[in-house]
Amino acid sequence: MTFIDLRDRYGIVQLAFNMETNEQLCEQVRRFGREFVLQVNGEVAERSNKNTKIPTGDIEIIASSVTLLNGAKTPPFTIEEETDGGDDLRMKYRYLDIRRNPVKNSLLLRHRMALETRNYLASKEFIEVETPVLIKSTPEGARDFVVPSRMNKGEFYALPQSPQTFKQLLMVAGMDRYYQIVKCFRDEDLRADRQPEFTQIDCEMSFVTQEDILQTFEGLVRYLFKAIKEVDIPALPRISYAEAMENYGNDKPDIRFDMKFQYPCFPQVGFSVIENAETVVAIVAKACSEYTRKQIDELTEWVKRPQVGAGGLIYIKYNLDSTIKSSVDKFYTEQQLKELVLSIGADSGDLVLVLAGNRHKTLKAMSELRLEMGSRLNLRNKDEFKALWVLDFPLFEYNEEDQRLYAMHHPFTSPLPSDVALLDTNPVEARANAYDMVINGVEVGGGSIRIFDKHLQAKMFGLLGFSEDEAQSQFGFLMNAFEYGAPPHGGIAFGFDRLCSLFGGADSIRDFIAFPKNNAGRDVMIDSPSPIHSDQLNELGITLKP
Ligand code: ASP
Repeated sequence: MTFIDLRDRYGIVQLAFNMETNEQLCEQVRRFGREFVLQVNGEVAERSNKNTKIPTGDIEIIASSVTLLNGAKTPPFTIEEETDGGDDLRMKYRYLDIRRNPVKNSLLLRHRMALETRNYLASKEFIEVETPVLIKSTPEGARDFVVPSRMNKGEFYALPQSPQTFKQLLMVAGMDRYYQIVKCFRDEDLRADRQPEFTQIDCEMSFVTQEDILQTFEGLVRYLFKAIKEVDIPALPRISYAEAMENYGNDKPDIRFDMKFQYPCFPQVGFSVIENAETVVAIVAKACSEYTRKQIDELTEWVKRPQVGAGGLIYIKYNLDSTIKSSVDKFYTEQQLKELVLSIGADSGDLVLVLAGNRHKTLKAMSELRLEMGSRLNLRNKDEFKALWVLDFPLFEYNEEDQRLYAMHHPFTSPLPSDVALLDTNPVEARANAYDMVINGVEVGGGSIRIFDKHLQAKMFGLLGFSEDEAQSQFGFLMNAFEYGAPPHGGIAFGFDRLCSLFGGADSIRDFIAFPKNNAGRDVMIDSPSPIHSDQLNELGITLKP
C-alpha cells in the first residue's frame, strides 16, 4: 500500500493506493513530493485502521486515477502544526506559512469575527461607510505616513491614523450610526506586536450619552464571545482611571487575578529607603512564603531590569508557623512586621513584596511585578476572559519637557460635564468623558463622547497650544461643520487584530494578519519598502538627498 495525505483548506484526507490492484498508479504516485497539487478520482471507503485525531480519520479514498495538476519545490520549512521555520523564513514564504493549520485557523477566526461584528452592528442599525485613505493628518498622536501628490506637486496626503474626523463628519451628516472595519496607519517605532498598518472596528453614534455607548459596545463584545467562543461574559465592571492606577498601577489592569496593590504604613525607625520614598506599595503573593533565597534573588534581579526599573525589592515572608522572615529584619521587629503584613490582609503562608520610590516609577514597576507574579502563579489563564471598562481618564497629560498639555485621547474628546469649568481654572485636573475597554490586561478598545460645540472645541485647541490659525488650517473643516447643526455624538474604536489574537488565545497579532510586517516595518515577502525609479520621483517632483 502507498498512502498520501491530501490537504486543502478544509482538512486532510488519506488517499490509499494498492500495489496489487493498480501497480501502475502506485508507481506513479510514489514519485510525488510534498505540496504537489493533485486531482483524484476514487471511492470513499471506511478505514480499517482509524485515526481518531482528525475529523476524516474514519475514512480514506481508494484512488482509481490521479492527475498531477502541479509539482512543487520542497518547501523551505515543514508545513505542519509546529514548524521548523523561523519567523523570517515564515514571513518570506507567508503563502506557505498560511497553509499551516495555526495560521489558517487564525485567518478563519478573523473572518468569523468580522462577520459577527457586522451582524451585530447591522442588527443595531449601524451602517458601514467607507472613508478615504488619502487624507490630511488625523490627530491620534502618532506620526503620519505621507503620500506625495503628483497632481499637486510639493503637497502630500497623509494616511489616516484613524477615520476620526470623518466619522464625526458623518454624524454631522445625519448618518446616526456608523461603523467601519478599517485600515489605520501609524508611523511609530514598532514596539513588540505593533504593526504600522492595523485594523479597527471604528464606530460612532449620534444623540448618545456615555451609558449608551458602554451598553452598545459591551453588547458587541459579549455577543462576539457568545457567537465565536460560546462563552458568557457577565456585565462589565467599571472602574475609574484613578482606581485602576491605585489598585493595579495600570490603566489596563488584568483582573483575572486579584493581588491588588496595598499601601502599608511602616513604623518610623529611620529606614530611609521607606521613609524618604514618595510611594511605598506592596502586593501579597498568596501561599508563596516558601520561596527560596534563589527565587527571591531572581525576582529582585527581575525588578531591577531596565524594563521594570525598580531600585530593589523588599520581601516579608509570613511563614506558616507564624514567624516572619524579611529582607528588612534588621530595621523592624518581628512584631512590627507581623502587624504590617496583617494590616494589608496577608495570611500565614503568604509572601509580601514591597517596592518604594518615586510614585510614577514605583507604581509602574509594581504593576509589572504583579503581572509577573500572576504569570508565575498561573493566574493568567488564556481561556478565561475578564473584561472591564476603565472610565474618567484625565483629559490632558502634561509634558514636562515641552511644558505643555497634550490630549490624553485626542482633541475632540469632551470633558466630563462636571469638569468643564476646570478648563478655565485647572485643566490638568479635568477628567475626560472617555472610556477604554480592557480584556485580560489588553486595551482592546477606546473612545469618547465628543465635543460638538464650536466654542468648546476652540477652547480645547487653545489649551493644546494651537493658535487660532493653526486650528483653523488643520481642523477648520470640522469646526465649520459644527456650525451647521451638529448632533451630540460619541464613539469608540476596537483594535481588531488584537481582539482576534485575544479570541485566538495567542500572544502575537501577527498570525491574525495575512501579510504582516516585521519589526523593522518591512514586508520581507514582497521586499517593501523599496527604492522607486527616478522617473517616478521626477514625476512627483521629489529629489532625494544623496
Ligand atoms: N479614533 C480613536 C482611536 O483610534 C477612537 C475613538 O475615539 O473613537 O483611538
